[in-house]
Amino acid sequence: MTPTITDDGIIRFNFLQLNDVYEIAPLENGKVGGMARVATLRKQLTNENPNTLTVLAGDFLSPSLIGTIKRNGKRIKGAQMVEVMNATGVDLVTFGNHEFDIKEQELQDRINESEFTWLGTSVRRINTKTGKKSKFYQETDSTVNYVPDTWTWEITDEDGTSIKVGFFGATLDMNKVKYVEYLDVTNTCLEAVQTLSMQTDVVIGLTHLNVAEDLELAAKLPKVPLLMGGHDHHHIKDMVGNTHVCKADANAKTAYVHTLTYNKNTRKTTVSSKLIDINDQLHSDEEVKAIVDKWKRIMDDNLTKVVDQPYAEIYYSKVPLDARESVNRREQTNVGRMINEAMMKVAKREVDLSFFNSGSVRIDDKLQGTISAVDVFKILPFGGPLVEIDIKGDLLLKVLNESKSRVGQGAYLQRKKVFYSDKKEAWMINGAPLDPEKVYHAITTDFLMMGIDLKTLHVNDPGIKKIYRPDPDDRTDLRNNVILTFIDYLINLPSERD
Ligand SMILES: [Zn+2]
Repeated sequence: MTPTITDDGIIRFNFLQLNDVYEIAPLENGKVGGMARVATLRKQLTNENPNTLTVLAGDFLSPSLIGTIKRNGKRIKGAQMVEVMNATGVDLVTFGNHEFDIKEQELQDRINESEFTWLGTSVRRINTKTGKKSKFYQETDSTVNYVPDTWTWEITDEDGTSIKVGFFGATLDMNKVKYVEYLDVTNTCLEAVQTLSMQTDVVIGLTHLNVAEDLELAAKLPKVPLLMGGHDHHHIKDMVGNTHVCKADANAKTAYVHTLTYNKNTRKTTVSSKLIDINDQLHSDEEVKAIVDKWKRIMDDNLTKVVDQPYAEIYYSKVPLDARESVNRREQTNVGRMINEAMMKVAKREVDLSFFNSGSVRIDDKLQGTISAVDVFKILPFGGPLVEIDIKGDLLLKVLNESKSRVGQGAYLQRKKVFYSDKKEAWMINGAPLDPEKVYHAITTDFLMMGIDLKTLHVNDPGIKKIYRPDPDDRTDLRNNVILTFIDYLINLPSERD
């Protein structure tokens, strides 16, 4: 006699949550992270309960070293992440600010390649050619499918309990680019939740906001049991009323597994969240690992053109080197200081000051312990030559003031031997206030001299009295590539290893 299975009105389901993932391969000498391990965890969860949804709460297409490398003449720009996410089985994502680091057409290509669903609740695309505003969309050969503001997941369990779970997204308005319009996060989320409440049993948020904004939003959405968030790079678990707010660590160093139980009779949801370490205790899924390895080979082929042993230890740091974007674009950091020291060291004669744009620091992470050449490539993926300049004080004043007004942006300068004295209300160089009439000798990047990042600094400005470029054929002149400049500096620094 077969036992009769009856619908008990109770259903259990899982979310596997990732956020802020830029690296497809494991980090820290292979000990932590790695999307192939995430794929294994997903398989384990799915075997145990087919009602498992894998989500990524924004920031994955940029920045990464692989993304800046060219293949077939085109920069990779997140194609490696989309291929790996497709193979891992990611189901649902929201836009993060880093998705808009890449160009309009590059993002369109990535959306077209993705086999997962995007949520575009608080963002709209502005076509920069036509000025037309629309939702973001995915193009296939024959159709255009708009990225939805809300998405519904229909699930049924073994005894036949069936529910609909609704999702909305949210994206902070941090990365102001021409092709994106940001809608008001609170209003769009409240509207989305209202719509979903009428059509679904449970409503869940997949957000990419600062934690303060997440908690504020949670307070306004008492019926939403869980916000799965991103943007902050360290794990967070908080609660406002009945709403849980959870974020995992960046680069899949951890993942959150949320197990939810919904009771149709009481209409109550319970949430149980567990932060899982992604490390060598999880074996790597073969299929995903093969894709990760393929991209690693493409990267290594490019790296060995520049350095012989990309993965050898060049420095050991006890103190975390802070290469986080949010910090480097706002204040002077240890990484900024070290890169400037490296630049000053390769100058052909003593400089009065050194500076570079904080936007060239890209890894958006803290680095500790063994540092290899690959890490330097990740910190400064664009590379490029350094130049020495003779710059008149009045122009230098304009440049420094512009940099100060651009705090929070890539044009904010990391600098050395120059600081702003609030007391004297003046820029101080070598202990004296900046003299508009004096000509200063400085070292900076060739890129900054093009007037792209800082509008006030341009090679043709009459305030630039002389520019000294390295001979591109002289391989001993480390000014030819800031990556080599920084690698050489770290190699010669006393190691902090005990
Ligand atoms: Zn972010």
